[in-house]
Amino acid sequence: MIYLDNAATTKINEKALETLEKYSSECFFNPSASYRLGMENNQAILSAKNSIKSIIGADEKDGIVFCSGATEANNTAIQSFANKRSKQLLFSSGEHPSVYQFAKKLFEQGYDVKFINLQQNGEVDYEQLEELLQKETSFISCMLVSNETGAINDIRRIVELKDQYQPNAIVHSDMVQGFGKIQIDVSELGVDLATISAHKIHGPKGIGALYVKNGIKIKPLLLGGEQETGLRAGTENLPAIMAFKTVCENLNIEQNLLKAKNLRNEFLNGLDGLKYSINGNGSPYVLSLSIDGLRGETLMNMCQEKGVIFGLGSACSSKKVGNRVLEQMKQKNIIGSIRVSFNAYQTVDEIKTASNIIKNQAMCLLEKLK
Ligand code: PMP
Repeated sequence: MIYLDNAATTKINEKALETLEKYSSECFFNPSASYRLGMENNQAILSAKNSIKSIIGADEKDGIVFCSGATEANNTAIQSFANKRSKQLLFSSGEHPSVYQFAKKLFEQGYDVKFINLQQNGEVDYEQLEELLQKETSFISCMLVSNETGAINDIRRIVELKDQYQPNAIVHSDMVQGFGKIQIDVSELGVDLATISAHKIHGPKGIGALYVKNGIKIKPLLLGGEQETGLRAGTENLPAIMAFKTVCENLNIEQNLLKAKNLRNEFLNGLDGLKYSINGNGSPYVLSLSIDGLRGETLMNMCQEKGVIFGLGSACSSKKVGNRVLEQMKQKNIIGSIRVSFNAYQTVDEIKTASNIIKNQAMCLLEKLK
């Protein structure tokens, strides 16, 4: 099998698996316990936070709140700033459902929620954002890398616009598809909150975190124990947290990025002769294609039979008809779209084989449809 749906999730790596095992059996003690073995695990969690901070360019004083994944981190961020006093809340239209659906719910509840359009290249419309920022604003949420297209938003530009017009507004960015894949410096970008997840970079599922800039106050989503300094109740998922740390400490972002660029180029070279357009362009890890004259779903099923796995778009939206993000980008051929996503540990040969199979299957399908 050649797996090309790495934006949906990745296979856990060996080292992370070993760490999972170690903290599930040998070092299983509750990190909140006040005896030594518990306190050691609490220290271990703090060291995991430091590893994450150093990768994302966070300051020592900034916070990392571990939670069950990016969905929870996104929900936590938004609900912290949606209250009776909040003013306009801005969301990119390209957000993952864990942001988008929450924003829609707030809108239905009567909050002043506005969605920022996407440009044809998949990035948000910065000019529209500037217009919207003329009105008093409490919160802006815009993802770094699109899970649908790989388009990269200029978060620094968004923060600068916010500083110019609404300096008190909070900026949150869902960085799931960028974290561990492209260089991120949250301090340089100037965001207040950022969401990350482990399972997109060969860590375990069910663990993510919210970066919280020093001085920014968030509210817990869950009520209960005092874990995570009262910001996330529930016994910490220590094995997953420590496996997340292991993954972070073994990352080579620059080298992986070069590899991913090469894989993407090889993949596209292999499609030579096929008529398609690329939707959005940015991260080499995600490639959204609209192929002329066929249904992406039929192609996906045919390729699956030949051992090549890819998706049609975000797995979290796979039960929905159409594709909200591609529609926003005014892509006309949504029915013919597929999403291919790589990981840096794949080989060029593997990718060449996969693109060959995809091309041949697409050609067969087009021939049949003639
Ligand atoms: N945001 C983005 C951009 C994602 O791609 C995903 C995963 N599909 C999520 C959030 C949700 O992540 P998790 O599975 O960790 O809840």
